Amino acid sequence: MPFRTPIKHCRNCGAAVVYRVPDDGDTRERAVCPACDTIHYENPLNVVGTVPYWGDKVLLCKRNIEPRWGKWTLPAGFMELGESTLEGAARETDEEAGAQVEMGPLLSVISVPRVGQVHLFYLARLLSDQFAPGHETIEARLFSEDEVPWEEIAFKTVKETLLRYFEDRRRGQFGVYNLEVT
Ligand SMILES: [Zn+2]
Repeated sequence: MPFRTPIKHCRNCGAAVVYRVPDDGDTRERAVCPACDTIHYENPLNVVGTVPYWGDKVLLCKRNIEPRWGKWTLPAGFMELGESTLEGAARETDEEAGAQVEMGPLLSVISVPRVGQVHLFYLARLLSDQFAPGHETIEARLFSEDEVPWEEIAFKTVKETLLRYFEDRRRGQFGVYNLEVT
């Protein structure tokens, strides 16, 4: 897995692990501990976010962090242990934009196998047009469809989600989109 730092030490006992196919019928290489036999499974991470809307505009955040510093994104981030996807998406929206929302339906589920992630975006109705961006955001502002800086969008999953959001808005009906991006 080129996109994640290989595991070096056992989480259980601290011994150096080796990558090999376990003897239990598994077919993939895993980090296996030769000392205590613990097998470390590595699986995709969930990124959860929102499409926050206010009238015919959507809220975008200008990133103050790498990667893609200075590019625009929808509020989104890694889901934390102990929270639901809805809770995580609302939390990220508050943390990155200082925006309060009423969570709506799921809009997109996008697999990104290249980096071992799944991105989920929910529609979210903004409760106010006043924002208080956190340290990860340079600026949070509302854009109508023709104002969106399409060439300055940070991630493909965000661009795909925005494109479908505006399509669905025109149609007057929102679907759930299962996509994969490379
Ligand atoms: Zn061990």
